[in-house]
Amino acid sequence: MREFETIAAISTSLGESGVSIIKISGEEAKAIVARIFVQKNGRSFLEAKPWYMNYGHIINPATGEHVDEVLVSYFQGPKSFTAEDVVEINCHGGRVATESVLNQVFLAGARPAEPGEFTKRAFLNGRIDLSQAEAVIDIIQSKTELAMKSAMEQSEGRLSREIADIRSRLLHVLAYIEVTVDFPEEDLEFTTGQEVSEKLGALMDHVKSLLSSAEEGKIIREGLNLAIIGKPNVGKSSLLNALLMENRAIVTDIPGTTRDIIEEYLNIEGIPVKITDTAGIRETQDVVEKIGVDRSKGKIQEADLIVFVLDRSRPLEKEDYDIIEYIGNRKSITLLNKTDLEDKLELEKLPLGEVIAVSALNGYGIGELKKRIKDLFFHGSLEIRDVLVTNRRHKEALMRALEKMQDAKNAVDAGISLDLAAIDISAAWNYFGEITGDTLSEDLVDKIFSDFCIGK
Ligand code: GDP
Repeated sequence: MREFETIAAISTSLGESGVSIIKISGEEAKAIVARIFVQKNGRSFLEAKPWYMNYGHIINPATGEHVDEVLVSYFQGPKSFTAEDVVEINCHGGRVATESVLNQVFLAGARPAEPGEFTKRAFLNGRIDLSQAEAVIDIIQSKTELAMKSAMEQSEGRLSREIADIRSRLLHVLAYIEVTVDFPEEDLEFTTGQEVSEKLGALMDHVKSLLSSAEEGKIIREGLNLAIIGKPNVGKSSLLNALLMENRAIVTDIPGTTRDIIEEYLNIEGIPVKITDTAGIRETQDVVEKIGVDRSKGKIQEADLIVFVLDRSRPLEKEDYDIIEYIGNRKSITLLNKTDLEDKLELEKLPLGEVIAVSALNGYGIGELKKRIKDLFFHGSLEIRDVLVTNRRHKEALMRALEKMQDAKNAVDAGISLDLAAIDISAAWNYFGEITGDTLSEDLVDKIFSDFCIGK
């Protein structure tokens, strides 16, 4: 195991709460806490048994003064989160109590942990691989139960096992090629080529099936980006509110006042849907509104799905047509809002795809809308078992690996020397290793962990 400095951080969130947990990890963890922890039973913490709670006080060793009343546990490495010695101090919650205790931990010799550093150590110490480490952050950031389940599976190593299996099969293929190249006989080279091609083909099918769930996986993990667009006053804010069932967005009668883009998450049958309510897209001279419109256009480009709102109680205007043109053939649903009012829309003039009649005001059609949103992205019932790839980084590595395997297969099929195919196969093997972190550069590993929160 590699040796690192002993680090400490608050692992719970810093609000008013009953308890906060301070985590300390590293060789010195126990010794550091022993300097500032006075146990009720009079024993030194240096003698503390692992996996027990110990009651006492954190003191300021300079003055002997009590800082807080605490419960402290010791997790002996390698059976700990980081695989190092870990001490956890349960102190009183709230910023002041927690930071006072943490401060004593620092004075006693620990240094502040960087974001994600505890998880990074678990990775560097070989307790978990990179995809499992990434799953830890996904668990914390899960927006729906489904997202959490999928992250749990990943943290338990389901994807890692698949990748390890594929890599070992690739190594087999490489070894096979090596033997042939070492004993070059024409016949052998030919039969080996055929076998290599078959094996690569089967592996590629497997990788493709992993990738086939990646789109759904991305949506489960990051949420579906949904942009609500339409000219002013058609009912976009009202629709957002109807979807959220609470009044978080500002609803207004004055055209053009929903200037800011408001983002909210909605849980549609387990799918986290990120809703963007935009200022209407329209030609405008108003500078403030112009910014809103430009941002709306950007949001629309990023959206997975556009919900275009029309006011059924008013005839169509140029603005509506402009928006339709702007949507083009992007994935969209058109809502005919205000169905509770008299119908003044001449629909036959519109080249519309999917149309749903709704009333944002009384909730009519909102259930239908939610159902259609889900059906557009997920076919049938959503089974988390089938979704293994949720992370964009993993998806990209898989795609690159697949490309290299295809290159290798093409070379073999074309009868080009097996040596060349072997180069592509090793490249693919490396790409798979990036997922689990076996072949990823230290810089990239650092970058991944720097996105974590402190104390994890
Ligand atoms: P936005 O500018 O597109 O965001 O539109 P708002 O949501 O602010 O709505 C504009 C006005 O239309 C408000 O007075 C809403 O109460 C009203 N409105 C929105 N949806 C409906 C609806 O379904 N029926 C009726 N009658 N009025 C609605």
